[in-house]
Amino acid sequence: MSAIAQKLKIIHQKITAATAISKRAAGSVELIAVSKGHAEESVRDAIKAGQNIFGENRVQEAQNKFKNLRSIHAPLELHLIGPLQTNKAEDAVKIFDVIQTIDRPNLAEALAKAIKKSSRKPRLYIEVNIGLEPQKAGILPGEFDIFLKFCRESCSLTIEGLMCIPPQSSDPRPYFIQLKNLADQHGLKHISMGMSSDFEAAVACGATEVRVGTALFGERAAKP
Ligand SMILES: *Cc1c(COP(=O)(O)O)cnc(C)c1O
Repeated sequence: MSAIAQKLKIIHQKITAATAISKRAAGSVELIAVSKGHAEESVRDAIKAGQNIFGENRVQEAQNKFKNLRSIHAPLELHLIGPLQTNKAEDAVKIFDVIQTIDRPNLAEALAKAIKKSSRKPRLYIEVNIGLEPQKAGILPGEFDIFLKFCRESCSLTIEGLMCIPPQSSDPRPYFIQLKNLADQHGLKHISMGMSSDFEAAVACGATEVRVGTALFGERAAKP
């Protein structure tokens, strides 16, 4: 068994345990393997171990890494979890099955246009800046209602979920609960939250998708 296969097994056991402890249905949480900063080889190991869902931060990196893998492994599901520039919206629609980081009106408009031109229809989530952090992407909770309305009514986008990255230094659970409440209030069924350090807490708070990188693939090389 590869090192990645072993780690994958452990993460699945932890998700299963956290799901059971919080009395949620078995299988109600999906694992997104965050492969940003890791080579295609690592993705291949994860695929061999049964993982089909991957998350990437950048359009270009995802294009390079998954171009070949796509053609040889059809069940692949690719999520964009990093910030998206409007001029990359068309490329993102071409390669991603889920775009989790819609956070501003001009991006919603650019995606609507790109989807109209394309035969693909990725699932779309809004990113919420749940900790009100100035340096972070995401729509502020106070602007969420009006932004969701804009996406739905002005752009005719189908929004299916929410994602957040809570502040690093504090207990993430109150933020996870806030995101879950926001999703419930608006009938959004996908809730993407929880990373290597806090995915079990996220499961306990209602995550339907956790995004795990380091715990599966190891440390990433420092950003260039
Ligand atoms: C990198 C990243 C992750 C994975 O983080 P780890 O701590 O390595 O598990 C999850 N979500 C987003 C948005 C990321 O950028």
